[in-house]
Amino acid sequence: MKLTSLNEVKSIMEKHGLRFNKGYGQNFLINEAVPRRIAEECGASQESAILEIGPGIGTLSQELCKLYKKVVAVEIDTTLIPALGETMAEFDNFKVINADILKVDLAALIKEEFGDMPLTVCANLPYYITTPIIMGLLESGCRFDNITVMIQKEVALRLCAKPGDSDYGSVTASVARYGKASRLFNVSAGSFVPAPKVDSAVIRIEVDKERKYSVKDEKTMTRVIRGAFAQRRKTLVNSLSSEFSELSKEELTEAVVGASFAPDIRGEKLGITEFALVADSIYDKIQTKRGK
Ligand code: SAM
Repeated sequence: MKLTSLNEVKSIMEKHGLRFNKGYGQNFLINEAVPRRIAEECGASQESAILEIGPGIGTLSQELCKLYKKVVAVEIDTTLIPALGETMAEFDNFKVINADILKVDLAALIKEEFGDMPLTVCANLPYYITTPIIMGLLESGCRFDNITVMIQKEVALRLCAKPGDSDYGSVTASVARYGKASRLFNVSAGSFVPAPKVDSAVIRIEVDKERKYSVKDEKTMTRVIRGAFAQRRKTLVNSLSSEFSELSKEELTEAVVGASFAPDIRGEKLGITEFALVADSIYDKIQTKRGK
């Protein structure tokens, strides 16, 4: 069964009474080379287990099952489950769970399905919730080796940007807290049915085994990253001032200078370890002010 053939997709959908559900971001792959390449380049090893999000009718799932030990896919759309039963019938290393990935207890699912197996996430994500899914996976603290996902190209550029790039922003720095994101390849809109309005790209986040920075307080770090990009045309001190209203501009300047940066530095120039220095300096300032 060649799921990347448009006729095959149509016939499966007709047989199971399915329609493309826009609300669930359903754009299925019909370019044969793409699912194979995503599966090959996702960073998993032969012994790996794969957590797939949104299998659709199983196009990427089939390629993953050919290469890896076990694939568990979480699909929100109940109407797709019988179709997957048919398209994935030949693979005994595949299982689908009918659930919303944003509501699943990831730690419990991973323990139950994968035990100690090395684990990679691989998915063609529904674009309406790209960032919540990626941040949810990273913030879960679950032991993923890699998170390889197809997303909108524009978001891919943001996630993979370097400090100083025009695409660098709070989401870039938020992802960098947990791993290293790189763009693997671009995918044109014509590779999907229905064709989305935007081009896509596949990115891989290699998740850090240990944090590459250490801070006294993670919540202050979160506030620094949020505040640094709140008003990106301003200096770091001015941009941070609305987030840290408990400190005066002078105190914030002292904190930034105390972390060894120029008082007029811009947030978009700082990498993750540099944000950590600013976070610790601000944390100390707040504690001193509170008399602690
Ligand atoms: N993997 C298939 C492919 O590449 O052809 C389909 C990818 S399609 C872009 C996204 C899939 O995610 C759809 O099957 C959709 O129903 C599913 N989906 C959307 N929201 C979801 C959610 N919150 N949890 C789990 N799956 C979701």
